[in-house]
Amino acid sequence: MSFPEATFRFYGDLIDLLTLPDESGVVVRTFDESPSVKDQIEACGVPHTEVDLILANGESVGFERRLEDGDRISVFPWFAALDISDVSRVRREPLPEPRFVADVNLGKLTRYLRLLGFDTWSDGSTDDAELATISAEQERILLTKDRPLLKRAIVTHGYLVRGIHPEEQIIEVLHRFGLAGSLEPFSRCIECNGIIKRVEKADVDHLLEPLTREHFDDFRQCDGCGRVFCSGSHFENLRKVVEEVRTNLT
Ligand SMILES: [Zn+2]
Repeated sequence: MSFPEATFRFYGDLIDLLTLPDESGVVVRTFDESPSVKDQIEACGVPHTEVDLILANGESVGFERRLEDGDRISVFPWFAALDISDVSRVRREPLPEPRFVADVNLGKLTRYLRLLGFDTWSDGSTDDAELATISAEQERILLTKDRPLLKRAIVTHGYLVRGIHPEEQIIEVLHRFGLAGSLEPFSRCIECNGIIKRVEKADVDHLLEPLTREHFDDFRQCDGCGRVFCSGSHFENLRKVVEEVRTNLT
C-alpha cells in the first residue's frame, strides 16, 4: 500500500528555511490523512508568517486547503516588487499602522526601531506565549529569530529576522515592511517606547544637571519614563546612527 503524496516547491529565501535544505526547494511529503497545506509547509520548517502566496496545481489557495494525492504545491515568500494582485495572497492584509513586538534577544534592533520612530513593544521578562498574545491582541508584527514562535496559530503578522548584526537587521525589517520612507527619528524613547515631545526649559529645570542647565536650551522629554533629552554629544551619536541607516537603505 502506498501513501498519498504531494510535491512542494519553495521559492526565494524560503528555501533557506527548509529543515532539510535542498537547493531546488523541492520537498515531497507523504501523508495518511488530509492535512492542511499550512501544517505541511510548517513541517518543512517554514513558519506560515513567511508565506505570501500558495498555488495548488496552479491555482491560488489558502492555508486551510486540504492536501490531496498528487498535489503540486508552490510556496512563495513575500515579493516587494512583484505584482500578484490578481491572485489571492494567504497573508492577511497588512496592519494599518506598522507596530512591532520584539523578542527579547533583539534588544538592539528594538532600540534602532524606536530611534527611527517605530512603536516597538519589548520586555525582558516576556515568554513566548505572551509575545504571541501581545502580537495578536495589539495587532503588532512579531519580530523574532525563533521559528517555532512564528508557527503559533494566533500569530498572523510576524517576521523571522535573518540578519545576525543589528545593523543588518534594521535594514532588513525596514525593507521587508516598506518603511524606508516612514522614518521619524527622535520621536520615540529608545528605553521605554514612550513618545518624546519638546518641552520648555522651565518645565524640566528641576531635573537638569548644573552644566546641562548652563549650556543647553533645547529640551525634549519622554512621556513614558520622564527622561529629559538635550542636543548633547549623546544626541550627536544617535544622529550618526540615523544617517548610517539612511545611507544603507538606499
Ligand atoms: Zn522613555
